[in-house]
Amino acid sequence: MPRVESEQLSMPNRVVVIGAGPGGLATALLLANAGLDVDLVERTDRVGGRTSSLEAEGFRFDLGPTFFLYPEVLEKIFSVAGFDLRKEVQLVRLDPMYRLVFGAGGELNATPDRLAMRQEVAKLCAADASNFDRFLAENRAKFRRFKPCLQTPFLGLKNLLTPGMLKLLPILRPWNSVDDELKRYFNDPRVRLAFTFQSKYLGMSPFRCPGLFSILSFIEYEFGVFHPVGGCSAVTAALARVAREAGVRFHLGEPAEAILFEGRRAVGVRTRSGEMRCDAVVVNADFARAMTELVPDALRRRWTDSRIAAKKFSCSTFMLYLGVEGRYDDLPHHNIYLARDYRRNISDIEDRHVLSDDPSIYVQNACVTDPSLAPPGNSTLYVLAPVTHSHPNVNWVRERDTFRRTVLRQLSKLGFAGVEDRIRFERILTPADWEERVRVYRGATFNLAHTLGQMLHLRPRNRFEDLDGVYLTGGGTHPGSGLPVIFESARIAARLIGEDLGIEVGVGGPL
Ligand SMILES: Cc1cc2nc3c(=O)[nH]c(=O)nc-3n(C[C@H](O)[C@H](O)[C@H](O)COP(=O)(O)OP(=O)(O)OC[C@H]3O[C@@H](n4cnc5c(N)ncnc54)[C@H](O)[C@@H]3O)c2cc1C
Repeated sequence: MPRVESEQLSMPNRVVVIGAGPGGLATALLLANAGLDVDLVERTDRVGGRTSSLEAEGFRFDLGPTFFLYPEVLEKIFSVAGFDLRKEVQLVRLDPMYRLVFGAGGELNATPDRLAMRQEVAKLCAADASNFDRFLAENRAKFRRFKPCLQTPFLGLKNLLTPGMLKLLPILRPWNSVDDELKRYFNDPRVRLAFTFQSKYLGMSPFRCPGLFSILSFIEYEFGVFHPVGGCSAVTAALARVAREAGVRFHLGEPAEAILFEGRRAVGVRTRSGEMRCDAVVVNADFARAMTELVPDALRRRWTDSRIAAKKFSCSTFMLYLGVEGRYDDLPHHNIYLARDYRRNISDIEDRHVLSDDPSIYVQNACVTDPSLAPPGNSTLYVLAPVTHSHPNVNWVRERDTFRRTVLRQLSKLGFAGVEDRIRFERILTPADWEERVRVYRGATFNLAHTLGQMLHLRPRNRFEDLDGVYLTGGGTHPGSGLPVIFESARIAARLIGEDLGIEVGVGGPL
């Protein structure tokens, strides 16, 4: 792509970032830190996007992310701007990382303590315990080899067909599912599930998710699962604080209404306050929603409205945010119930698009680690059930209350007794709410699915291939959904913008 010279040489290049989610905030910070003139427009009146908080009556919940993994990437971003992430946000490493309760019978407390973990596995299947160390060792090698892919902008086939990538194939075995991959170590399906359910972080089934994602569970055991004090929204709040200090101008409550073009080149963004001319536009808003609403269909070549509609999307989530009287101090921070017939539950979500009668659920009981989240003596319970993205089979106006009752019933399977009588505050979010209120395409909370056909150069690219001067950051682009890789997308996008504008943009170390 040709370089763009700023019209007046003395003026810094101007960039407009659309969306104050983690990807948008991190990209804005890196660009402002490099001396660019950065405006960030955000539809809502707060920062953080899906990584913001919900606060009411003395309770504070994370809206979306609750697992903070692999802080290393964000540490690099903070350090390039002269800040120390761990001074800005207190990170507590959790042990146990989470408790799994299997509907098929048995429990497992996932712990980073290797010996204790082997004993936990042995409780489910003695023969599998001895393979835990081999799983870690082989995935350590796999992670080391795959990491560069997460840091490379996949701008075309040329990035894929390199000798390095071809050598990776026998190690990554991309044709395997995560479950197939784990069969190499563990026979007991419950043990496999303990190391594969993490594909749900990408909104996918372990039976379909590409095998290379076995690194997700490895990352937890190797680098830890963290709780940021105040919740994951404390991370995006800190990013916003640091970005402001670096000079980013925030325009909250000011949605982008259109990206402005001259031919195929983006030249600005229109909001209700007028037009902001710029040299580059960064889109952090939900990819499918933003493209179909902010860019005329005729301008797009590969990602037209009809092609986007034909893509595979992740699952959605049914959420209960409960402020309850009393505490559950004998239960851990993260608790996961895995449906008795997990394959059926997954198939209900991804194939049949119906609601399960024995859904898997996840409950965050954060006050055991962080009492600041509720009034004294009370607790917050964040309850998430993975469900189908918006689909004509499920009418949420009709199903909402019945499914709420189903989910509340599931809580007792995790040991949360008598919750219903203790609820003092409650907020529900259905896939229809994600779609209509949070403006997520089809309510697919984890964006485009991470199938092989929608990854690397086949995912919407960080230097967006359909338009000039448009860059993507966040869960909808490469490398994918999940905070560590979203922060990698910010580093990649910032570096590409720097290259195209002819400016050195520090991204906190080599990509
Ligand atoms: C329920 C749930 C649980 C999750 N759990 C985890 C977890 O535990 N760990 C993890 O690592 N990840 C998790 N994720 C995934 C991911 O980390 C988050 O979704 C993350 O917030 C996505 O970041 P993003 O940068 O893509 O932007 P988003 O968070 O999607 O933010 C985009 C921003 O763009 C704004 N916007 C939209 N349209 C416009 C417009 N026209 N003009 C201006 N602004 C606009 C939005 O208001 C929003 O603020 C979870 C996600 C969800 C939904």
